[in-house]
Amino acid sequence: MAERRALLREANAAVVAQVRGFHARPWAPGDADSVVQEFVCECGDVPCVATVRVAVGVASSAPVLAPGHG
Ligand SMILES: [Zn+2]
Repeated sequence: MAERRALLREANAAVVAQVRGFHARPWAPGDADSVVQEFVCECGDVPCVATVRVAVGVASSAPVLAPGHG
């Protein structure tokens, strides 16, 4: 389960990196951390396919969990 969580964390980190990469461009409007994106739930339960919409800044600082998961 720890390995599954690590993979989910990696997937969400890739989304964070993608948004931050876009916003690093001089013409990009707004702030990357306030952009709301869909992230996968990181609870690690095998049947869990939940996604959560949170700001990039939130997802980068803590594991993303759907309500009641983890
Ligand atoms: Zn979950």
